[in-house]
This record gives sequence, structure tokens and C-alpha cells, in this order.
Amino acid sequence: MKDITCTRCGAEGLEPGFVEDAGEGARGYARWIAGPLERGFLGGAKRMGRPRRQIDAYRCHRCGHLELFATDFV
Ligand SMILES: [Zn+2]
Repeated sequence: MKDITCTRCGAEGLEPGFVEDAGEGARGYARWIAGPLERGFLGGAKRMGRPRRQIDAYRCHRCGHLELFATDFV
């Protein structure tokens, strides 16, 4: 995942990173889950059995825009 260009301002050389999930019991990183969001009785997201992928977030040093990529299964 190199040579990424910012889709907002066109700058090159975006800084790699990821989106943190600091919630209680979280693994420390947010994940992308396939399918539209559905909520359960307690308001939490239904996600059982859904494929989930790692989210790579590349930050533009010029404008701060984030380019998000859902890559490997986690
Ligand atoms: Zn930019």
C-alpha cells in the first residue's frame, strides 16, 4: 500500500496509521464489518458471523484527510 495520493488535495506520501478503539474490552483498533449496521435490543451493533477486516488509515500531512482501507481479515 504505497504511493497513495490524497483524494481531497492530491498530496502524496500519506502517513500510515490506524483508527483506535479505546472502548472497554476493545482490542485497541477499530474494524470494518461487512453489511449495514443493525442494532440489537441494548443498542449495540449486531456483528455475529460478519466478516471483519483491519482498517488502515493513511493521513494526509497537508490537509489532514484520512484515506481508509479495509484490508486483511482480523
Ligand atoms: Zn490532503
